[in-house]
Amino acid sequence: MSGGHHGHPDGAAAPRTDGPTEKCGVVGVSLADREAARPIYYSLYALQHRGQESTGIVTHDGFQQHDHVSMGLVGDAFDPGDLAGLAGNAGIGHVRYPTAGSVDEACAQPFTVSFKSGSLALSHNGNLVNAEEIREELAAKGHAFTSDGDTEVIAHDLARNLLEEDLVRAIRRTMERIHGSYSLTIMHDETVMGLRDPQGNRPLCIGKLDDGYVLASESAAVDTLDGELVRDVRPGELVVLRDGGEGFDSYQLVEADHTAHCFFEYVYFARPDSVLDGELVYEVRRELGRKLWDEAGVETDVVMPVPDSGRAFASGYAEAAQEDGSDVEFAEGLMKNRYVGRTFIMPTQDERERAVRLKLNPIRSTVEGRTVTVVDDSIVRGTTSTQLVELIREAGAEEVHVRIGSPQILAPCHMGIDMATREELIAADRSVEEIRESVGADSLSYLSVDAIADAIGTARPDLCLGCVTGEYPYDVEGEEMDPHRTGPEPADD
Ligand code: 5GP
Ligand code: MG
Repeated sequence: MSGGHHGHPDGAAAPRTDGPTEKCGVVGVSLADREAARPIYYSLYALQHRGQESTGIVTHDGFQQHDHVSMGLVGDAFDPGDLAGLAGNAGIGHVRYPTAGSVDEACAQPFTVSFKSGSLALSHNGNLVNAEEIREELAAKGHAFTSDGDTEVIAHDLARNLLEEDLVRAIRRTMERIHGSYSLTIMHDETVMGLRDPQGNRPLCIGKLDDGYVLASESAAVDTLDGELVRDVRPGELVVLRDGGEGFDSYQLVEADHTAHCFFEYVYFARPDSVLDGELVYEVRRELGRKLWDEAGVETDVVMPVPDSGRAFASGYAEAAQEDGSDVEFAEGLMKNRYVGRTFIMPTQDERERAVRLKLNPIRSTVEGRTVTVVDDSIVRGTTSTQLVELIREAGAEEVHVRIGSPQILAPCHMGIDMATREELIAADRSVEEIRESVGADSLSYLSVDAIADAIGTARPDLCLGCVTGEYPYDVEGEEMDPHRTGPEPADD
């Protein structure tokens, strides 16, 4: 599968990410006396933003597994007949994020495998950094692999351990072997489980329904089922839903010194209405916007968001500005065509540029003859900002200032967000002034790394900031380890 092995800019060995870097959504449901397929289907709808390439549901009816896995969006992938065929009170589901340029059916999930002591299904969000090693070992022992994804490696390792150990011990053994980021929902026969890597890189939470329990990447999925968020799955914790929807058992299988929560979930990826590790994403984004004003505010006639990802940032920014006595107006200056998919899916630069114009159109009265501040969450390749600055100028703006609610993205993500390769990142080898010039803005400012840790309320050594520092909490070949984690703890921690 492509996208796994990114080239290095200076021709050095490519960092090994071992298979697809996936940012995905996972769900697991166990109910007393009701088919699980529909609640899983609704949860996947709620998690659609986490992946649009493929989706799937696997259920278990007490005797056998049923599955329906398909390319495309949740709304297109299942018809009523498909759902009716997914019998059983227990099941798991998945939405998969498109990896750059590749569409590969073999990587669609949940991944299923049957073996002597039963059946397994896995949904994975994250990315292992040592999958290739384990794959080679298992292949030497006769395991046949059908994809080159890292999820299959987990499935085979676990299936092997299950031949020798009980469920919890087998999972512990697999956890001791796999390194990297993973939030998993797992179904062994009809037992549904959630497992989060020891550093909790990707989110996973537990929700309570009237007649059972749900595990999901984000709490918005629990809300959709009219459930109650119980809590996050803890880093290194295995949560086993009891059959019959009667509660769950918790096993803290591994303890790590630090967490490595992905800050980008808060900045861009998660839904603003989700609560991740105790923080409502919308409020974190507004706080980031407020800090952006404090660090880099600029007086203009109007401040406007880049919809939809910049909205919460811009509202926090404008609020802080107004509290400071600025008479900047907060207004919508761009209209979004909601039927255009994510621009990232466009394979070529030319298509990406066209897509921005298709997706966003300026509102003339907001910008004409005025000085304008545009607020967005992040700059990746720089396509969006460059096109928007041009569009807003064409619509008559006198000055266009760009403010970004995250630090410069200067390194790739190896932990499950497929951003871009290093050479595509506009900030990889450019100063802020060079980026400003390249996007054509009158001024450009990013947010500091410290402001991110403050707004999330998590100490810097407990966050994964790899893409904005180039220092990773996991040992990725060819990349630097995060020195904040190995050095002495800050005194005020
Ligand atoms: P750029 O146009 O600079 O390449 O990307 C920046 C825009 O893409 C921002 O508006 C941001 O909201 C969005 N963005 C940031 N990260 C991602 C991502 O991982 N996937 C997608 N689809 N969009 C992203
Ligand atoms: Mg955006």
